Amino acid sequence: MNRQQREITVLGAGIIGMACAINLQRLGFYVTVVDQNEPGEGCSSGNAGVIAPCAMVPVNTPGLLKEIPAMLFDPLGPIAFRWKYVPQMLPWIFNYLKNCQTSKAEQIADGLSALTSNALKEHRNLAGNGEASSWVRPSPYLYIYESEAALVKEDYFWKLRRLHGISTRVLKGSEVQEFEPALNPHFKCAVVMEDGHGFSTDPNQLVKALALQFQSNGGKVIQAEVQQIKIINQKPSSLITNVGSFPLQRLVIAAGAFSAKFATQLGERIPLESERGYHIMLKNPGIAPRYPIMNSSGKFVATPMKSGLRFAGLVEFAGLAANPNYKFAGRLITHAKSMFPLININDFTEWMGHRPALPDSLPVIGQSTKFENIFYALGHHHIGLTSGPKTGRALAELIAGQTPCIDLSPYSIQRFIRK
Ligand SMILES: Cc1cc2nc3c(=O)[nH]c(=O)nc-3n(C[C@H](O)[C@H](O)[C@H](O)COP(=O)(O)OP(=O)(O)OC[C@H]3O[C@@H](n4cnc5c(N)ncnc54)[C@H](O)[C@@H]3O)c2cc1C
Repeated sequence: MNRQQREITVLGAGIIGMACAINLQRLGFYVTVVDQNEPGEGCSSGNAGVIAPCAMVPVNTPGLLKEIPAMLFDPLGPIAFRWKYVPQMLPWIFNYLKNCQTSKAEQIADGLSALTSNALKEHRNLAGNGEASSWVRPSPYLYIYESEAALVKEDYFWKLRRLHGISTRVLKGSEVQEFEPALNPHFKCAVVMEDGHGFSTDPNQLVKALALQFQSNGGKVIQAEVQQIKIINQKPSSLITNVGSFPLQRLVIAAGAFSAKFATQLGERIPLESERGYHIMLKNPGIAPRYPIMNSSGKFVATPMKSGLRFAGLVEFAGLAANPNYKFAGRLITHAKSMFPLININDFTEWMGHRPALPDSLPVIGQSTKFENIFYALGHHHIGLTSGPKTGRALAELIAGQTPCIDLSPYSIQRFIRK
């Protein structure tokens, strides 16, 4: 391949875009990343930071349909809709619920597991010896429950995890507080995963450090808002942005929840929704839990980060344009107080981000069906931080004409293209 054939642009500098960019660079490509903001400022900045191979259990599992009404009417529940947005997302909801059958969930879990397995090792490989590695830490990951009955209710998920090689240890009674003394003793039961898990002490800084590493190895980062992919002679040929137009040879679309409009411009409709999530960051929590902890009933994670204790989770369906609803996010504060009785909640910041969500919980990773020079890496909903490095490696190998490290067929865009 000559130099021009090795030029490639990546749209999006989140964890997915940067992982693609670094892996392409390692395989000899001349890579330019374009983002409207600085690297890492999208969904990748405010997540819970957990690098969790155990997150291969899809969200739309058997039983979810029965649980949704209770979750919606619970004043502290983890899910909310803006009702006027619902009509527009009905087809997505319908398809999402269709994937709640046991057979589908197990097939999806296989697809997710291929992406989430060895996640910590993949992060280490991506960061190499650079500063990025200092933002990632190995650690146990704890799921806490108020009763053994609550744990038994999630037995199906734990079986699925064990089936995919996740080793678990159950803690009961006082063992829970012995493991994490800051926790309220009303948590009577927990499951701890000690192998292969970890977390980022600042996911935003992690992506920024990856971007710096990429630049110091010759990669280019351009700050520009992409408005359109221009097609000339039936080939996507340039990006039209707010600061001018940039020619392109090949393009990876990794613009997170904002990717669908670009796919539509290319004639490929992807049913991508924003699953809005929130965090609150307590700057002086007054307690120091050591590990990320998933509160199973509240469906959120408390993670000790460099600049405070972060509570991240919740799901809100309101589209890409609506303002954040920080009243809804306030539920995280109530949960924080009940989870850690000695917590200081006086000084906190709030954040909302858009998880890129497809109705079958699997991302799209691979080549466009319409244009040979277009590739997709999007739709990583709850697992983008965990699976970003593997996604980037596999896609770069595909683009370089090598056999990808995992079978990419479960993530093909073909599944959404009407025949
Ligand atoms: C509350 C919460 C908690 C989470 N916790 C975890 C967790 O613990 N572990 C985990 O693995 N995952 C977690 N996730 C999911 C994870 O954060 C996402 O899957 C991941 O960040 C998606 O990365 P991305 O690169 O696809 O998107 P983004 O990070 O959103 O990056 C997309 C980029 O595209 C750019 N862009 C968009 N449109 C344009 C345009 N027109 N022109 C130029 N640039 C554009 C944006 O500026 C952005 O930088 C969580 C998510 C949330 C919301």
